[in-house]
Amino acid sequence: MRIAIIGGGIGGLTLALALRHEGLDAVVHERTPQFGRVGADINLTPNAVRALDPLGVGHELRSEAARPRFRISRDGYTGEVTSRLPMSDAAEQSYGAPQLTIHRADLLDALERAVGDETVRLGHRLDHVEEGPAGTTLHFADGSTEDADVVVGADGIHSAVRRSLHGAEHPVFTGTVAYRAVVPTERVDHLTDVDCFTKYWGSDRFTQIVTFPLTRGEETFVFATAHEESWSQESWTTPGRIEDLRAAYADFHEDARALLDACDEVLISALYVRDPLPTWGSRSATLLGDAAHPMMPFMAQGAGQAVEDAVVLARCLAAHDTPHALNRYESLRRERTAQIQLGSRGNEWLKAGGNADWVYGYDAWAVEV
Ligand SMILES: Cc1cc2nc3c(=O)[nH]c(=O)nc-3n(C[C@H](O)[C@H](O)[C@H](O)COP(=O)(O)OP(=O)(O)OC[C@H]3O[C@@H](n4cnc5c(N)ncnc54)[C@H](O)[C@@H]3O)c2cc1C
Repeated sequence: MRIAIIGGGIGGLTLALALRHEGLDAVVHERTPQFGRVGADINLTPNAVRALDPLGVGHELRSEAARPRFRISRDGYTGEVTSRLPMSDAAEQSYGAPQLTIHRADLLDALERAVGDETVRLGHRLDHVEEGPAGTTLHFADGSTEDADVVVGADGIHSAVRRSLHGAEHPVFTGTVAYRAVVPTERVDHLTDVDCFTKYWGSDRFTQIVTFPLTRGEETFVFATAHEESWSQESWTTPGRIEDLRAAYADFHEDARALLDACDEVLISALYVRDPLPTWGSRSATLLGDAAHPMMPFMAQGAGQAVEDAVVLARCLAAHDTPHALNRYESLRRERTAQIQLGSRGNEWLKAGGNADWVYGYDAWAVEV
């Protein structure tokens, strides 16, 4: 079976590993000419770590990541703690895996090394796919073509595979921009709970600061959102103005402001949404991760849902013929991802405690395929 994965991001590389785990080969086509250290954080909640563990990257992730001790909610203005959920060992006991917070580049490094160079074609940008009776033809931007029996669009929020399958339809700007920074922890270690995931909640859903440790605790991630009327730039490398961010949060509690004071530079990116799709694919092509269900970051499930998709899809492809496998994959994944996609828009997740089991307790390896 010729399986083509479009996109060598988190979901695409995890799928290549999960297919290998199930005895199937695939080729990953990635548009970037070389992998680089782009982006900042990825929050791997226990459901994501459990999906990744059998793929041989668990040890490397644990040696690079941090393990937040608690997930804390604080009032952004008074600093009052409104909820404090134990993570780390407690999460490991409840869910069979810890929460790991990791630099996106460290996660991608681990996945790339495990997948190996021979499986990935770098600098291979897909333009569109064309389905025929005997499979699908991939058309690349360099004019080359290739046939495949199964095509998986793991090519992110602006997916070319999605455009081919469902027509051009652009994601909608939410009126929110996200600022991200990574700082040495020694700049903020006078604050309490720097080894925890902490969210400072403001008066509306645009106003919040999140922080958690990265890189074995040596680095600290700072994330804040702000309202913007319009936005046209699309990038993971655009610098933001830290002065604007500090001004927007001038009335926040001193602990939260100290996080922004510690940042020299921030990256700014826009937050977009799409509505859940009624169907994802066809008899020989499907979607995975952000290509299928891009999410706001407020439940920290973008990467988690991509890796869950990857494991379930690989298991379905190993168990059934292609049309049945893709059908079964969609029917297992659509409702859960739609629920999280819509829940992430609300920005209420775990605001005042609550039960995270339905998200963190999911085991992609145990789902009946
Ligand atoms: C460069 C980058 C930096 C990011 N930084 C962060 C971050 O700091 N924090 C955060 O929470 N999320 C970040 N994200 C988003 C996050 O990785 C995803 O939301 C989530 O992990 C879901 O993963 P995914 O595999 O579906 O999509 P992605 O991780 O976005 O991967 C999609 C991949 O497809 C490739 N691709 C796109 N179009 C084509 C094409 N036409 N042909 C071939 N390949 C294509 C992209 O280059 C990319 O490698 C970043 C994404 C990217 C691409």
